Amino acid sequence: MPDNCHSQTSNNQSTELFNIAKHYIPGGVNSPVRSFAGVGGTPIFMQRGEGAYLYDVENKAYIDYICSWGPLILGHAHPNVIKKVQAACQHGLGFGTTTPIEIAMAQKIIEFMPNIELIRMVNSGTEATMSALRLARGYTQRDKIIKFEGCYHGHNDSLLIKAGSGALTLGVPSSPGVPQDLAQHTLNASFNDLSSVEAWFKQYPDDIAAIIIEPMAGNMNFIPAKPSFLQGLRELCDQFGALLIFDEVMTGFRITSGGAQQYYQIKPDLTTLGKVIGGGLPVGAFGGRRDIMEHMAPVGSVYQAGTLSGNPIAMTSGLATLSELTAPDFYARLAAATKRLTDGIKQLGERYHIPLLTHQVESMFGIFFTGQSSIETYQQVANCDIERFKQIFHRLLNLGVYLAPSAFECGFTSITHTHDVIDETLNKIETVFKELN
Ligand code: PLP
Repeated sequence: MPDNCHSQTSNNQSTELFNIAKHYIPGGVNSPVRSFAGVGGTPIFMQRGEGAYLYDVENKAYIDYICSWGPLILGHAHPNVIKKVQAACQHGLGFGTTTPIEIAMAQKIIEFMPNIELIRMVNSGTEATMSALRLARGYTQRDKIIKFEGCYHGHNDSLLIKAGSGALTLGVPSSPGVPQDLAQHTLNASFNDLSSVEAWFKQYPDDIAAIIIEPMAGNMNFIPAKPSFLQGLRELCDQFGALLIFDEVMTGFRITSGGAQQYYQIKPDLTTLGKVIGGGLPVGAFGGRRDIMEHMAPVGSVYQAGTLSGNPIAMTSGLATLSELTAPDFYARLAAATKRLTDGIKQLGERYHIPLLTHQVESMFGIFFTGQSSIETYQQVANCDIERFKQIFHRLLNLGVYLAPSAFECGFTSITHTHDVIDETLNKIETVFKELN
């Protein structure tokens, strides 16, 4: 553990920078949840990352449980990834042509996720879900889609309706600026509640192009779907001729190498990816059944394109990251460390009489400050003690533990979160729980 992990937070430089940033950037941030609006206070400006640690502009260290919102499964500045990216940069930053590494990337993803037969690279998760929906609509020649309250699929118009993540944190789950003509085609259902989906199919049996879902919701804290619920969605899609889209932007390569679809053994028609497949650079992808994907231009007529799609530096970073995932016991080590964290938090909650629940699957986790006995729905997340989260968030930040600045985001670990790092975190959590007791 770095020595300066113990130093007190001094936000002077970050506060100064934030005030300057607000003059030039809306709210001082390039993505809303970074603003700390969900927890109050001033965001910390970071300058570098190494392994499990982030370092702010005053060189204070934080154990990082955001991992760039998911991509950094190898931790910050993994030496092999950095080396390969540096080498690739020597050849130029992008050509706008086809390159061999795009094939290698497609092969690697398909090898891990055999439900994907053809895949197209894009530049973000938002682009991936936007393109997958357009494809689903073009393929089925239907307009309506079903999404779930509290799930977040990026900020494209059709999906920014009762959305999770920053939209939920900031209280704008349905954004102004989305035309009503489009919003009427987005049907919202309740996560883990099959009857809410059946009701939509009953009302619109011939109009629903697709269901899009995070199979493990990571944008309303962390709620894995019930297996019977996902199976029910698969059956409804088959019955009514709709496509099932698994948004695995978060879960892809985190919930085992084959994603949540492997974990649940459910075959979606289309899958969207992002985060880990870029290893920290901007990458997204969508793929799935060959007969559906062949509706994409230039083979088919559903149009989608991208100046920087498949960019060689981004592909190098992603491929280098994916190549590390086959190391022996990689996922077992990740899961064991993450379980150690959530088990430890549960024990501390009991010891210091702080009512809480935890969820953990592989390297994703959620902490809910609540006396409820289980959390399976958005409404149950909304009923948690958000004020308590804010209080604990700030105290932990002071002690050098960086949780996502919102009670509606999940946590991530990386392979560099060793048992020592986890134990250090638990010590700090104990300090905070003791103070609150
Ligand atoms: N889908 C899911 C499940 C996500 O969690 C996110 C982002 O957090 C997105 C899509 C959008 O990805 P991006 O922020 O890369 O546009």
